[in-house]
Amino acid sequence: MLPNKIGSAFLGMDILYHDAHNKPRTRIYLDSAASTLALAPAQQATQQFLKYYSNTHSSVHLTAKISSEVVNWAQKSILSFFGASEGYDVVFQGSGATSPLNRLAKGMRTLQKDKKIVMVSLMEHHSNDLPHRVHDNNVIHIPVYDKNGEFIGIDLDTIEALCKEYEGQINYIAVTAASNVSGHISPIHDIAEIAHKYGAYIVVDGAQIAAHSPLQLNQQDPARSIDFFVFSGHKTYAPGSPGVLIAKTELLNQLEPEFYGGGMVAEVSQYNYQVASQSFDKEHAGTINIPGIFMLASVLAFLDKLGMEKIYQEECELTEYLISQLTNIPEVKVYADTLKKQRIGAVSFNLKDMPHELLSLILNDYFAIAVRNDCFCAHPFVRECLVDELWDIEDEEDLPLYRGMVRASIGLYTTKEHIDALCEALKEIVTKRD
Ligand code: PLP
Repeated sequence: MLPNKIGSAFLGMDILYHDAHNKPRTRIYLDSAASTLALAPAQQATQQFLKYYSNTHSSVHLTAKISSEVVNWAQKSILSFFGASEGYDVVFQGSGATSPLNRLAKGMRTLQKDKKIVMVSLMEHHSNDLPHRVHDNNVIHIPVYDKNGEFIGIDLDTIEALCKEYEGQINYIAVTAASNVSGHISPIHDIAEIAHKYGAYIVVDGAQIAAHSPLQLNQQDPARSIDFFVFSGHKTYAPGSPGVLIAKTELLNQLEPEFYGGGMVAEVSQYNYQVASQSFDKEHAGTINIPGIFMLASVLAFLDKLGMEKIYQEECELTEYLISQLTNIPEVKVYADTLKKQRIGAVSFNLKDMPHELLSLILNDYFAIAVRNDCFCAHPFVRECLVDELWDIEDEEDLPLYRGMVRASIGLYTTKEHIDALCEALKEIVTKRD
């Protein structure tokens, strides 16, 4: 078991709400898929580090040396955490996964110029779909429901069939490692093998998986290795840290830089410039978010100590508990639940005859339970999940009420008691409204 008191290591676990009856309640946080809570020791360590902070790009004075060392250490430990110590490089960009995904979508155009097709699953967050659509690509969507309307998730046979159909034209396949709607985990190494067999690269959106499952991007069999992996620090217990891209160095070297400016050049004259030869330098024009990078590497060191396999097992158990408790309530419908595959702790549902906004509001205002509602920036997938319900609606005016869901998602601090509180609240809502 993970230490019982782990919740106290996170900021925001003791927030008191006054509910609609003016009764104080300790807030229950079930919105980790949007952003995880901040790990307090990592925040404190960052405060300490700030005493010794200055910009990198100079090795002359003491604190510049310290900051440069910190960035070196962070680079190495992030790569090692994701099983990418050999042959990979890390890039820090923006404030979440969206920036590096956009960087890739733009940069990958030059990697295989003659191949215009990009395959993207229909389970993606918009951030791993729209950037690929806008950059002069021909996006083919991988279906996640079969012809009978049965949810199949990211299915290897479906991918292989599409690869055969478009053989020789596919630049890369972009898939999420875990869905932010249903939590389903994708077989990323099997997908990599198929992509490579057909001469395509693989881009993995790791926003939802990075903090919840052990990963080994580099595999003994190179065909099964991941080419590009992206995740967000704010979903990894380190709000304020950057978005991260981990990429095979040989591929990163072939991408055009996205930003030009200081730091990413070897030599500049009035009429010419030469881009830095090291991919890390080439990718970082301007000053990077050094405190955020330090904080992220500190969190990963903490997770490493707890053991990612253990975290994964614990969270799988908790997710199963969440799904079973929710499905025990007859008025609750859990979505994409027919596929009994491994899932991280993001579960979407609706309560019969209640708009998702209203349910989330009641959970917040009366029960101090924080969940997320709407379409979670994954409109195509949510729409597919809701398709039966949308067809049932006769009056077009009713449509907006049903165009969304409520999502409960877990983190290291989530307990069975939190899930019980959610389910008790749902039962009370059903009883009181009937
Ligand atoms: N990909 C997935 C699967 C996500 O869940 C999210 C955010 O919810 C993103 C990408 C975008 O990440 P960010 O908001 O960190 O840019």
